[in-house]
Amino acid sequence: MHYKGRCHCGSIQFETKGDPLFTQYCHCSKCRTVASDSENPADKMGYSFTAAYLTENFKITDGEDKLTSIVRNNARLYLCPQCKVLIYGMSEDPGKQAGIGINVNNFQLGEDTPASFRPVRHIWYQDRIVDANDELPKFKDAPKEQFGTGELCQ
Ligand SMILES: [Zn+2]
Ligand SMILES: [Zn+2]
Repeated sequence: MHYKGRCHCGSIQFETKGDPLFTQYCHCSKCRTVASDSENPADKMGYSFTAAYLTENFKITDGEDKLTSIVRNNARLYLCPQCKVLIYGMSEDPGKQAGIGINVNNFQLGEDTPASFRPVRHIWYQDRIVDANDELPKFKDAPKEQFGTGELCQ
């Protein structure tokens, strides 16, 4: 099973092998700042939507030479220079580069979002600018396995 994706303008195309490990929403200001430049309206919800994958299961299939990157809080974020859409992010720490976070808004998933793409939690909810009206766990920062405190918001 492969999933395909592309940035808003189509310059960057990618493919993933298999289902994501999980997907989640992030409300941190870093995500919001990056999204504010994006030309994709789906990026401007006030939080990001990210799919976690093993790095080895992700491949840029077109436009790799065009990708630009910026570093924010020890994460390197890869963007399309044309439509300013975030493609994926990876830790700058060589010990934490086995996994990456891919912007779910770029996947071409069709009408029925596969169950494996349903988000499991909100992170950095204490920094939110919009409330989420759902039953998902809302972490103040991040779960312990993502190097947060693991504390939940009320
Ligand atoms: Zn683009
Ligand atoms: Zn974030």
